[in-house]
Formats: sequence, structure tokens, C-alpha cells
Amino acid sequence: DEEAPARPGLLGRLFRGPDAAPVVRRTLDDEMLEQLEELLIASDMGVDTALRVTANIAEGRYGKRLSVHEIKTLLAAEIARIMEPVARPLPIYPKRPQVVLVVGVNGSGKTTTIGKLASQFRAAGKSVVIAAGDTFRAAAVEQLQVWGDRAGVPVLTAPEGSDPASLAFDAMGRAQADGADLLMIDTAGRLQNRADLMEELAKIVRVIRKKDPDAPHNTLLVLDATTGQNALNQVETFRKLADVSGLVMTKLDGTAKGGVLVALADKFGLPIHAIGVGEQIDDLAPFDPEEFAAALTG
Ligand code: GDP
Repeated sequence: DEEAPARPGLLGRLFRGPDAAPVVRRTLDDEMLEQLEELLIASDMGVDTALRVTANIAEGRYGKRLSVHEIKTLLAAEIARIMEPVARPLPIYPKRPQVVLVVGVNGSGKTTTIGKLASQFRAAGKSVVIAAGDTFRAAAVEQLQVWGDRAGVPVLTAPEGSDPASLAFDAMGRAQADGADLLMIDTAGRLQNRADLMEELAKIVRVIRKKDPDAPHNTLLVLDATTGQNALNQVETFRKLADVSGLVMTKLDGTAKGGVLVALADKFGLPIHAIGVGEQIDDLAPFDPEEFAAALTG
């Protein structure tokens, strides 16, 4: 009888019960390849990427009999190969403060990610300042303060509805005066009025450059992995609004849609600096392409 893992990977859904035994051999024929393609597409990998991955697996092996283990290994290797170039930790700049602008739609996990990052930098002995730049959402500011307390990091706020750029400017001044290593600036995530948001982000960048012409040193886009293909649209949108330098993918603990990371890597090649794997402060992990590929495939 069937012994399904808690959250089966792609091949765990294709091969079941006795058919899933690693030594069972399958012929790599059209039917098998089509099943693979469908699985990859269903995981939100995108049609082009899915077709290319299956074509690479079939190359030189079409019609051969492969064990389930071999198919898994091949698929995982293809996925890891696409992901390796984007698996890069947040680059650390020698300049103080390193300014990280954090963008993304509401609900993507911006606040949580800022809290987790602050905690990691604190643990590494760095001093951190957070600016609660989503001044129009009182709840977001409060939430950020909770995370700041947890991480032991000051959170600079401004009255509700006030200009985020002026808060960012003040936060730059404070971070410079304190000799802080890192300044993280949260931003609004309302896409309803893109022209407004674009102007708001541009103004933040403009004013912080008065204090450091190289700032922001990173512009992190936070994406919710459970939104599947929607994440691709968000990258396209935010790249028009800001100079996105890297991604954090959240909620990878709760999704079978992880394939979207492969589509993202393939399409945009933006570095994935970290992944969110839970709601707690320590639930932010470096992105490990082999581990990811194995879990997605498994
Ligand atoms: P924001 O609106 O972009 O600032 O989003 P929040 O940081 O407030 O996160 C929205 C929701 O997603 C909250 O309930 C978080 O606890 C949850 N969340 C954020 N990151 C993760 C993650 O990596 N895994 C899980 N399971 N939940 C997350």
C-alpha cells in the first residue's frame, strides 16, 4: 500500500504505491514525457521552461528504460542547473549604512522578511535600523514595530499618512549618525495606483541619494511563492517601479507551486537571496538550489 510523504514532490504525485519504488523502470516514451511536462506545468514552472526541462531529460535517452530513481535524479539535476546561478546571498557592501529598500505587494511577507533579516544581521553582530516606510498603513507600522522589538532593532516611524520619503531621509540621517551597518526601508505595496507608487518609490530613492549617491545598495522584491504564476507578473510590474536587484521568496513552506521559482530564474535571472519557510523569526533560509530541486522533484 501507499506510503505518501507529507508533501509529495512532483514525481511523488506521478508515481504512486509500488510504482514509486526507486528501482521500478519506466520507458521514456512520449506518454511518459507528456506526463512529466504536465506535472512541471502544474507546478507553475511555465510552459517554455517545462518543455525545455523535459527535452533535456529526453535527449539521448528517448525510448530507454530508466528507473524511477534515475528519472528523479535527472529532473532534480535539470532544475538545480537552472537555479544555481540565481542562488546568491544578499551582497554585503562595505559602505555604512548599507541601504536596503524592500518592495512588494501587501501580504507578500515584506514586514515578516524585514524582521527576519534584521534578526539575522543582529545575530551576525551588525547594527540595524528599520524605517517603517508604509506610512499609510497603520497596521503595517505596528507590525513592523513588533518585529523590530523581537529582533532588538529600532524602528523609525512617522505619523500616519506622512511622506515616506521624508521618513526615509530622516532614517538615513539616523543610521549614518549611529554608524549603523544596515538600514532597511519598508515601502508601500498598493498596486492599485501604480503611478502614485512609482512616484513614491522614486522620491524615496531621490532623497536617500542626497545622503549617499549609491543608495539604495539593494532593492529587494518580496514575493509570495503561493501566488504561483502571479509572482511573474509582480516581477514585471515592480521592475518598472523600482530598480529591483534581488528577490526573497516567502511561504515556500506551504506551497506545491514552488515551480514558479524555476520560471522566475529562467525568465529574469534575478538573484534569490533568501527564502521564507515559516512565520517565525528564524524561518528565513539561504536559497539552496540542490535542496530546492530535490524537494520539488521528490
Ligand atoms: P506584508 O503585508 O508584505 O508586510 O506581509 P506580512 O509580512 O505581514 O506577511 C503576511 C502574512 O504572511 C503573515 O500572516 C505572515 O505571518 C505570513 N508569512 C510571511 N512570510 C511567511 C513564510 O515564509 N511562511 C509562511 N508560512 N507564512 C509567512
